[in-house]
Amino acid sequence: MAKRTKRKIARPKLPLQRQLEFETDGRYFDLRAIFEKLNSRYFGNRLRGYKVIWGKRRQERPLENFIFGTIQEEDRIIRINPWLDQRFVPTWFLEYVLYHEMLHAIVPDQMNQNGRRCVHTDEFNRRERDFRFYKRARRWEEENLARFLR
Ligand SMILES: [Zn+2]
Repeated sequence: MAKRTKRKIARPKLPLQRQLEFETDGRYFDLRAIFEKLNSRYFGNRLRGYKVIWGKRRQERPLENFIFGTIQEEDRIIRINPWLDQRFVPTWFLEYVLYHEMLHAIVPDQMNQNGRRCVHTDEFNRRERDFRFYKRARRWEEENLARFLR
């Protein structure tokens, strides 16, 4: 199988003030507009008070484990990897990445028997498929992952 991507729940690393500097409006995509559209279509506008921002651009692409997005529940911040703000990325793929992070705000994590936190629960995986372009997005991810890695 191709290199797997990982999405994770981020813990706060920076003081909030520094996080607020980041932009929501990318070169190709407006994260706020996409968030509002998904919130209305899939979540009955239940996600309130969330910030959706482009994360910090790193100097180099990672060797593996490209992280498309993260959600930080404590501060209600969804960060999207700025490498996704490119012309070749389809809108429905960016929507899928955002949908995935937004779903974390709705579907609770679970502890498994080992006391480890599971964020991609059965319910999460089932509801992820409600996204209209889920299959297409997963296929695109597999076929294009190498473009995000070194
Ligand atoms: Zn996830």
